Amino acid sequence: MIGLAPLLRFARAALLAAAWSAISGPAHAASVAFEPPSENERRRAIGNLFEEPETIRPLFQPSDDFAPITLPGRGDWLNYHRETGQTFDEFRESGANRPDEYRKVIYLLPLGEFPEDDAPPLELLRAYAAAFFQLEVRVIPAYHPHGLEFGPRNNESTGRRQLHSASILAWLQKRLPPDAYCLLGVTMEDLYPSPSWNFVFGQASLDERVGVYSFARYDPAFFGRERRAAWRDTALRRGCKVLAHETAHLFGLPHCIYFNCVVNGANHLDESDAQPLHACPVCLRKLRLGAGFDPVRRYEQLRAFYRGQRWYEDADWVERQLARVATRTAADEKP
Ligand SMILES: [Zn+2]
Ligand SMILES: [Zn+2]
Repeated sequence: MIGLAPLLRFARAALLAAAWSAISGPAHAASVAFEPPSENERRRAIGNLFEEPETIRPLFQPSDDFAPITLPGRGDWLNYHRETGQTFDEFRESGANRPDEYRKVIYLLPLGEFPEDDAPPLELLRAYAAAFFQLEVRVIPAYHPHGLEFGPRNNESTGRRQLHSASILAWLQKRLPPDAYCLLGVTMEDLYPSPSWNFVFGQASLDERVGVYSFARYDPAFFGRERRAAWRDTALRRGCKVLAHETAHLFGLPHCIYFNCVVNGANHLDESDAQPLHACPVCLRKLRLGAGFDPVRRYEQLRAFYRGQRWYEDADWVERQLARVATRTAADEKP
C-alpha cells in the first residue's frame, strides 16, 4: 500500500507518473470531492467545432457513444486525485510537443524478455499504436538489462523483482533516436517509481519524450492466480489501452474528466478495464491537433484492427462513428 502524499507529489513533478498506482490506495487518505462537469462544461471543453472541417465535425459532437463521466466509486481515481481537466482550447495554448517533419516516429523498445507465451505480442501493440496515433511505429531490438541495472529490488507484498522506472527513463533519454517523436520502453518486469511506492504501471517524462510501461501485472500468473482461457486477449487489450493512454500523456493530454475515455485516470485494474479503448470528443480533438491525422482514416484502421482481434463491440462502435460522417456527407450531397 502506498501513501497519498508521495503520489500527489510525484504526479505534479515534471515526470508524469502513469499513475495507475497501487490500488487499494491509501485507505487513510481523505478523498477529494469530484463534481462531474455539466453538459455546458463538456461542450466548452470540446470547443468551437466550426474550426474543424465540416465533413469531420460530427466526429467531435457528443452522442450516446460518449457517456459523460459520473461520480467515482470509493476506490476510484477521481476520489483520490484532484483533477481539473483541460479543455481543447487550453491544450492548444499549452505548447505541448508535437511530431514534426523530422521527429515523427514512435519507437517501442522491449526491455528484457517478451516471451511469446506470457506477453502481449509486440507486433499487435505496434499495429494498434500506429492506428491510434496515425504515426509510424517501429519496434527496435530488445535490450536486456544486466543483473543490477535499473535499481532492482524485491517488492515486499509480491516478493517479486521490480525495476526502478525513473532510472529506466534516464537511460532511455540518452537513446532517443534522432527521428523519434518518442521512445517507449515496454517490459514484462514490474516497476516502482520511488522507494515509497508499491509499484507503478508506467511512467513518462513529457519534456524528454520518453516513457516506460510494464505489462507484468496484467497477467494473473504474476499474482499466482490461474490464467483464464481468454487472458491473452485481456492482456492484449490492457496493453493496447496502456499504450494509448500513456502515449496520449506524451502528446500533452492530462487525464480526461469529461467523458468515459481512454485518457481517464484509473486507480486499479477493474477501473481501467471498465474504461473504453476510444478517445472522447475532447481528447480526440486534441490528438488530431497533436498528431495531425485524418480521423476518418484513423477510424477505418482501428476498425480493421478490432475486427482482426474479434473485438466486435469496439469495431461496431467505430462503425457508428464512421456512419455519422457518411450520413453527413450523403446529406450534404443531396441536391
Ligand atoms: Zn494517466
Ligand atoms: Zn477524453
